[in-house]
Amino acid sequence: MKLIRFQKLLSSLKTLTAAQSQSVVDNLRKYHDNPILNNLEKELAENPTCPKCHSTSIIRYGQAHGRQRYRCKACLRTFMCTNGTQFFRLHHHDKWLDYVNDMVQGKSLRSCAHQGDMALSTAFFWRHRFLNIAQVTQPQWLEGIVEADETYFRYSQKGQRHLERPARKRGTKATTRGLNKKEWTPVLIAVDQLHHEMDFILSSVSSRNIELTLGTHLSKKCILCTDGHLAYRQLCQNNNISHKISINHTNIEKIFNIQTVNAYHSRLKNWIRRFHGVATKYLGHYLGWFRMLEDQKYENLNTFKLLKIQQHWIKT
Ligand SMILES: [Zn+2]
Repeated sequence: MKLIRFQKLLSSLKTLTAAQSQSVVDNLRKYHDNPILNNLEKELAENPTCPKCHSTSIIRYGQAHGRQRYRCKACLRTFMCTNGTQFFRLHHHDKWLDYVNDMVQGKSLRSCAHQGDMALSTAFFWRHRFLNIAQVTQPQWLEGIVEADETYFRYSQKGQRHLERPARKRGTKATTRGLNKKEWTPVLIAVDQLHHEMDFILSSVSSRNIELTLGTHLSKKCILCTDGHLAYRQLCQNNNISHKISINHTNIEKIFNIQTVNAYHSRLKNWIRRFHGVATKYLGHYLGWFRMLEDQKYENLNTFKLLKIQQHWIKT
């Protein structure tokens, strides 16, 4: 703010009532004590990296909007702590934390919009801005005993203006029996004993697709437990991975089964039901959201887990 305007603002403060003054103080505190921004500032101070060229040679470069601005000595770009994060150019700082809390609780879009006193379209934009990053935040490797199995979601064009086929009423049965490719989307889910979870949306359950997705994240020494689908057998043969087949959820050696991954499927499906069908193009966002909630459950961290994971992703 320019000096003259600032002085005018200061002099106008004298005319405030006691209640109005208190409101100004509360608002200022809310703005400057924003834990998300403080967290981002701290992260940048500890690991100074340019969000554009990833150079570590950055300097402080004045202030903007009451926050520290930085400049990269390599590419000469200036940036703030929110550049390259899901909070970049997102207004209403004071609502971020409550919104993330609502998301952690898995609240519906309408409820998030109502709580945050924002338009439904803004709530939708925020949700998918945050989930865009949740989607790609997956563990690098699955180790030890790994369980893998597919589950299916109905293909949905929810929200799209030009449907490729007539709209289908929610809750109706598929028109054909079995898992028709046009009506169902396969999702491969794999979990290991350390509660690492990965999911992949597949165009079809084929050897090639499984090799290109799950195959690139299995540690060499792992033991893969599956229902014995040919694609998994080929994957294990090609990569020299030990394979245990669990038929009817049991195996002669009891520890090798797919109960954990099937229980995950069922928790995921139960949770996703609250959204009354999700568009297939956003399915990855919802899978990422649920993965974070599950991850948080095991690590018993506070709501910042959602934020920390995202910040970590930005640095890599
Ligand atoms: Zn740079």
